[in-house]
Amino acid sequence: MAKQTIIHHNIEPVHYVSDAFISWCFDARFSELLNKFIELRKFKNVDIVKMAGGGKVFATPEIETEEIHYLGQIAKSVKLHHTKSIILMAHANCGAYGKHFEDKAMEEAFYVNELRAAKETVASFLKKNEIKIPIETYYADFSGLHLIN
Ligand SMILES: [Zn+2]
Repeated sequence: MAKQTIIHHNIEPVHYVSDAFISWCFDARFSELLNKFIELRKFKNVDIVKMAGGGKVFATPEIETEEIHYLGQIAKSVKLHHTKSIILMAHANCGAYGKHFEDKAMEEAFYVNELRAAKETVASFLKKNEIKIPIETYYADFSGLHLIN
């Protein structure tokens, strides 16, 4: 195998503290919103896991091992980067769910419920592992990003 450098770029080899572990949907329509959110929160380093549905994997995983796998990713993030918080997102018109809603309010209610379930799963995992960091949940739609309490 021959190696060919296609980009020259110096990367700081030092370890960092992660401001947040972020579980975000890979839907590119919401990528700019993620960048804006990181900027707003002044996060310096983040461990981002992009997957279909964002926090869906912790609420309604398609296969059980999926949830176990991503909870493991949270544990690794905390272990390696002393991660300070967990961010879970869900968004309107998410293809990972493939659902159709009568109106925006019903859609939002559905995703807020999903976020609550996801938060519960992650919270119980953190508790079991004696990890004390906050979990924040966010709903994104075509007007912006909304904190769900
Ligand atoms: Zn999505």
